[in-house]
Amino acid sequence: MSTQLQSRRLRQPIVVVLGHVDHGKTTLLDKIRGTAVVKKEPGEMTQEVGASFVPTSVIEKIAEPLKKIFPIKLEIPGLLFIDTPGHELFSNLRKRGGSVADIAILVVDIVEGFQKQTYESLEILRSRKVPFLVAANKIDRIPGWKTADTYSFLESFKAQRKDVQTQLDNYVYRLVGQLAELGFNSDRFDRIKDFTKTVAIVPVSAKTGEGIAELLALLAGLTQNYMKSKLRFAEGPAKGVILEVKELQGLGYTIDVIIYDGVLKKNDTIVLGGLNGPIVTKVRSILVPKPLQDIKVVKTDLTQIDEVYAAAGVKIYAPDLENALAGSPLFAAESEQQIEEYKKIIQEEISSVKYYNANI
Ligand code: GDP
Repeated sequence: MSTQLQSRRLRQPIVVVLGHVDHGKTTLLDKIRGTAVVKKEPGEMTQEVGASFVPTSVIEKIAEPLKKIFPIKLEIPGLLFIDTPGHELFSNLRKRGGSVADIAILVVDIVEGFQKQTYESLEILRSRKVPFLVAANKIDRIPGWKTADTYSFLESFKAQRKDVQTQLDNYVYRLVGQLAELGFNSDRFDRIKDFTKTVAIVPVSAKTGEGIAELLALLAGLTQNYMKSKLRFAEGPAKGVILEVKELQGLGYTIDVIIYDGVLKKNDTIVLGGLNGPIVTKVRSILVPKPLQDIKVVKTDLTQIDEVYAAAGVKIYAPDLENALAGSPLFAAESEQQIEEYKKIIQEEISSVKYYNANI
């Protein structure tokens, strides 16, 4: 085993963001990505397609003031956030018996509470059995809230007036009530004793960054503590899911793929779903964005890599991808027998994926 593989005992959990329109999903993802770029050391961040990696060193730096409450030593390499929020993309992240996402953030505007798409998001999470925590967003909009220069909710909360603290808690209790109606036990994260039985509510402001420390620490801590077996790094051939099929000028058809298990190598034979049945082809190039120093630079300049380890988002160029289906599974195969097995699995799954593609 290579040293790179030896050091990868656990893979990074895959995180998705869901919730009602305008409740702050995009702003929250931007804030997390932006914070990661500011806090990273040079060369620390891998480049992804369709996803953003936040390394553990960044999480530890941001969560430094929380050491007393979260004394956990992180073993996961970081968190991989899917870049596009919302249910449409989440529907594409399916895998047999569940979702490629390991954990979700359900974003709720703390002042507005649950709205139509919050309920829809929860139903989808429940049906795919994806654990989630609630980001009670826009705390800076609570009347009287004084924004503090910190990523920590608890630090900022301590500095608020009593009546503002009470107002925040009233909003949190309303969320607890709305979740209880749906059969979920929940509480503010710092009052929870057993995280396997209670959904954590983390008050945040995607605008100011308050609460991002607790949000990241909890995502990392919960996935590492309760999903270790799922996150154990597998050395075998890659398994993934197709996020998008895109024609790239001067190159041809490419697929954006989230690799959730194993290793994908250049020249691997891959089996994936197509409009007219399974496609078997060979990986010509694995592409990722060129390293960037600034989050504002658009991720368009691509560079080739020889192999990629789960979990990761990459663009794949290969022949015969023009009929590839978004939402289809993708498997790297090592033998004729495996190719046939995967073709069968994909054939079975493709009908529901086709239905989804017809409805976008
Ligand atoms: P999405 O539709 O869920 O992705 O919501 P957006 O991220 O686009 O946010 C909707 C609006 O709410 C935008 O105008 C944001 O600037 C604003 N917004 C998002 N998060 C916050 C927050 O924490 N505080 C405040 N004051 N505004 C926010």
